[in-house]
Amino acid sequence: MESVVVMLPSLGIGHLISMVELGELILTHDPTFTIIILLTPAHYETKSTANYIKNVTSTTPSITFHNLPTLPHPPDTSTHFFDHVFQISKLYKPIIRDTLQTISEKSTIKAGILDFMSNDAFEVCTSFNIPTYYLFTGSAFGLNIMLYMRTLHENVSESFKDLRTYIQPPGTPPIYSLDMPMTMYDRNSNSYKSLLSVSENMAKSSGIIVNTFAKLEPKVMKAIADGECIPDGPTPPTYYVGPLIRDNSDDNSGDKCLKWLNLQPSKSVVVLIFGSMGKFKKDQLKEMAKGLEKSGQRFLWVVRSPPPENEKGHEFALKEPDLDDLLPAGFIERNKEKGLVVKNWAPQGEILRHESVGGFVCHCGWNSVLEAMHNGVPLVAWPLYAEQKMNRVYLVEGIKVALPLKMGEDGFVTAEELAERVRELMEEDSGKKLREHVSAISESAKAAVMEGGSSRVAVAEFVESMKSVRV
Ligand code: UDP
Repeated sequence: MESVVVMLPSLGIGHLISMVELGELILTHDPTFTIIILLTPAHYETKSTANYIKNVTSTTPSITFHNLPTLPHPPDTSTHFFDHVFQISKLYKPIIRDTLQTISEKSTIKAGILDFMSNDAFEVCTSFNIPTYYLFTGSAFGLNIMLYMRTLHENVSESFKDLRTYIQPPGTPPIYSLDMPMTMYDRNSNSYKSLLSVSENMAKSSGIIVNTFAKLEPKVMKAIADGECIPDGPTPPTYYVGPLIRDNSDDNSGDKCLKWLNLQPSKSVVVLIFGSMGKFKKDQLKEMAKGLEKSGQRFLWVVRSPPPENEKGHEFALKEPDLDDLLPAGFIERNKEKGLVVKNWAPQGEILRHESVGGFVCHCGWNSVLEAMHNGVPLVAWPLYAEQKMNRVYLVEGIKVALPLKMGEDGFVTAEELAERVRELMEEDSGKKLREHVSAISESAKAAVMEGGSSRVAVAEFVESMKSVRV
């Protein structure tokens, strides 16, 4: 019977890409495997994801995508988008059980690999005695917090949103309670309870594969290896296999950006892209425009329509933005020599790889951070949702690859602040120092994924350990 690895990515292109790239690496090490990736409908409904899936299908026949059926959504009682994602993941449990049953009738399932937000499948996989691993799509730092969550839950009785004090996990800078992941803010929320269950299941799993590389986070990796973050240690085997990124575009939508970048001087352009879900209100967009103009720097900026007033969290759906309404009058015309505004989506991987790019105002999503590190691009940190505030602390104080941005309590950033930080990043000595540091990180990131590099070795160790388990 053929040997199969079943993967369950979570929603969001960042989560999907790292899972697929891991699949590609498993095949590079052992091409006899077949990889089956289970997708819920929200995965293939967005254009960028659909293009990506189409391209992978045509280039790597050993990776197959299995579309799970559309289910009636549960009544949305959640207060936050990520609560809802966890609710949906629960709903799919019986379907995943049936799917695994069908696959196992024809093949040997050697491993299940779950995104942490597909955690509800852990019980299903283990009930089939399938060795079950997690792919953690964040940093080792984020993994450390996730594993440490049970200890925090035992020792802290208040919700992080009410705590107003610093938390000191092993091996990381202290984190202010309000900088903890928003999904962990409220002890009574569905997302908090789901993450607590992730924390427990990860500790029991066959191993954790992490999208980072050895030289980026050695201190935290040591704390994880020492089991300091797990109350009932030891830590399961961890495999640091990153960066798992894709820097090719999946269509030609980037042609306009690349042609424009080709005309700009080396390292002169600051890029502003805020993940797959980042959206700003109209007053903030206008303020950003003013700030960019004031900074005097060249820029490439992806602009989206503001979130609707009644939106609970962040949605993947993107509607066409009306730039004339959203940006100050005459902004695009005045800045046509210096700036490019792109609607909704741009091929970020390819853009960050371009020689003309010298800085990135980033929402601190981990895939974006890795893409920047891989290409030697320093950051200005502008966190928006999920665990991004926590990432900012780490990027600024831990691995020192970003300048912080002063934000109001409501997250508002003034034009003056944006202008100053962008200018500092692009022109001043502190920005130059940051660029040199990130440039060295870029060398280590590239070395890690080369033949014999730490990440390639970790993939080999993972595949060999998976093969050695009798199922
Ligand atoms: N991305 C892109 N173009 C865009 C916005 C995002 O290609 O206009 C890609 C980006 O390169 C990254 C992913 O979408 O690979 C976003 O993942 P990340 O973890 O940074 O943020 P998330 O969307 O999960 O918040």
